[in-house]
Amino acid sequence: MAGAPEGTIDNRSSAPLDVVVVGAGFAGLYMLERLRQLGLSTRVFEKGGDVGGVWYWNRYPGARCDVESMQYSFSFSEDLQQQWRWNERFAPQPEILAYAQHVADRFDLRRDIAFNTTVTAVHFDESAGLWNIATDRGETVSSRFCIMATGCLSETRTPDIAGLDVFEGKAYHTGNWPHEGVDFTGQRVGVIGTGSSGIQCIPMVAQQAGKLFVFQRTPNFSIPARNAPMDETYERQWKDNYPELRRQAREDSTSGTIYEKSSRKGHEAEPLERQREYERRWQRGGVNFMHSFNDLMLDKRSNDTAADFVRARIRATVRDPVVAEMLSPKDHPIGSKRICIDTDYHATFNRDNVTLVDLRKAPIERLIATGLQTADTEYELDSIVFATGYDAMTGALLRMDIQGRDGETLAHAWESGPRTYLGLMTAGFPNLFTITGPGSPSVLASMIFAIEQHVDWIVDCLQAMQQRGTNLIEAETDAQDRWVAHVNEVADRTLFPLANSWYVGANIPGKPRVFMPYVGGVVPYRQKCDEVAANGYEGFRMSTAPSQPGRRI
Ligand code: NAP
Repeated sequence: MAGAPEGTIDNRSSAPLDVVVVGAGFAGLYMLERLRQLGLSTRVFEKGGDVGGVWYWNRYPGARCDVESMQYSFSFSEDLQQQWRWNERFAPQPEILAYAQHVADRFDLRRDIAFNTTVTAVHFDESAGLWNIATDRGETVSSRFCIMATGCLSETRTPDIAGLDVFEGKAYHTGNWPHEGVDFTGQRVGVIGTGSSGIQCIPMVAQQAGKLFVFQRTPNFSIPARNAPMDETYERQWKDNYPELRRQAREDSTSGTIYEKSSRKGHEAEPLERQREYERRWQRGGVNFMHSFNDLMLDKRSNDTAADFVRARIRATVRDPVVAEMLSPKDHPIGSKRICIDTDYHATFNRDNVTLVDLRKAPIERLIATGLQTADTEYELDSIVFATGYDAMTGALLRMDIQGRDGETLAHAWESGPRTYLGLMTAGFPNLFTITGPGSPSVLASMIFAIEQHVDWIVDCLQAMQQRGTNLIEAETDAQDRWVAHVNEVADRTLFPLANSWYVGANIPGKPRVFMPYVGGVVPYRQKCDEVAANGYEGFRMSTAPSQPGRRI
């Protein structure tokens, strides 16, 4: 952007592209594949050195998906889903990254992706009806459409702890792990954070470290994954029935994954029967536990029974009753923060080389050259792992300077929390789509499932525009306001807003407290999206850019 006045993008590049896609994770890859089929000229910009998105960056030991492998995969290509083989019930990060790379190779996607390139600014030029897009490599391009495939959990967050620059040891963030791996053998290691990432990496780090301190502010609920090598019969059942099983996921689930449903309410079941059901699901492993009864996220009485069960399991596993108590979550309903799944997490605290530090009693004061200082103790550390999470759902979008009509910034439009119509577009930002944006099921669904639905919807929309001979689409403010109200209203009927979770932005100081994903379920959500399309893209305004009267997309 050399020579460009501040706040504007110097756009001297040649012919505009049809579409720029930001991000080459699963969303960017599938989007590119579909846009090619439409014959649209497309360029993808990706910050990382390869495809994979979150699975490119999250290389920490123990990183693995919490959706079963047979379901955490693309459904758009029958050949792909038949030929790819998963080795474990829950795929580890290297295998998922290999899958993303395979998809890129198989569909020859890399030739349209600029890697190691971060998009810094995205400005709408109203007179030309074009988006001007600038990157950190000094490149600017213009494009008719801009599609954000930037992911929901891609903007890592390191807390503002004093002394970060003073610590003389090594510091890592789980969401930006060194590619060459880290050898903690014999080291004194501190892990800060006990969300999904911390819970996955702590048992692995404990096996290597000489001494591990786990710095916990809030304990989380975690269910054993019971990961195992892929069972061939199970794999066969999926592959033989993929079309039907994918249909069920689409039409008969809340999250786009198939789980064992219950038609019973938790607090109505007999205590013994309830206990048996929890125990059965606990033994089976995975997030299916949260479907033991159909009201666990709606009725606190039922939720309490599930939470009590998990707390009892923690007490039964952890030998030191004081540590067990510290590890038992009490400040939020189970499931209201993203439920974790683990391998030997609680048992790890029985190891002689692991100490749990309660930051509620003595918070972190600062990092020091030799380690970490809490309110009552100085801990000497060789390495610190920040498992402190993400500026979720909005962070990756707002770190770019996005300006729509009249120079309105997305940061300003979202200053009281994200506002979108269906999580797909924001009023005032024409031709700018967000894949799995806030206001859509996104993180409450299986991500690849949610991505496919959004990409397919966007492609249908572009085709509809082509047929109508229009080249601009924009969310209407009224429709957006109604959708935002609906998203809030549905969330308020559940137990989700009761937790200080990243779903409501509570992990980022100063972030507006708004429940960001749509919790109404993928089936009603899809129906709404389909209805909107069937009703001529109701709530969206289609028009023709003044400078491109005859130009179709
Ligand atoms: P997270 O759930 O936001 O957890 C961050 C942890 O860091 C929390 O325990 C938090 O404590 C702690 N923390 C933050 N700032 C702190 C500070 N200043 N001092 C002390 N502790 C601090 O982040 P995450 O574990 O990376 O997980 C984020 C999401 O990514 C998950 O919920 C999940 O959706 C996804 N994920 C999925 C998988 C999987 O598929 N298995 C694996 C990893 C991540 P408080 O709770 O007190 O704020």
